[in-house]
Amino acid sequence: MDFAYDDQNIFAKILRGEIPNKTVYEDDYALAFHDIAPQAPVHVLVIPKGPFMSLDHFTRDASDAEITGYMRAISKTCEMIGVEDGFRAIANARAQGGQEVPHLHVHLLAGRPMGPMLA
Ligand code: IMP
Repeated sequence: MDFAYDDQNIFAKILRGEIPNKTVYEDDYALAFHDIAPQAPVHVLVIPKGPFMSLDHFTRDASDAEITGYMRAISKTCEMIGVEDGFRAIANARAQGGQEVPHLHVHLLAGRPMGPMLA
């Protein structure tokens, strides 16, 4: 079973400039911005610019350039926010994964000890 991409999701609107965001990093492939409800002292979301719902869809359907560009953008974002002491990266997918916004986003959390496990 597959799912159609909803271009009215909030991150699609952010990418189109219809909703403001606090940008950390942007290039041709990705946008990184501060989460509106941070769960750590640093909580940034990195999203690809293409219409991909989740990590599995992205790594199945995106071009090699898009995948490489997105991964490099995550690295650039880490440089921007400073993660020398460590960080957690999370990509929730679909209902059981706890995904609320159906556009792929990697959460980067830093600035406090994360603990051994996720809820
Ligand atoms: P998910 O549960 O993995 O889909 O995470 C969605 C994240 O998007 C949550 O951490 C929200 O706080 C965040 N979020 C929702 N709307 C906005 C927004 O307009 N700007 C920035 N972050 C948002």
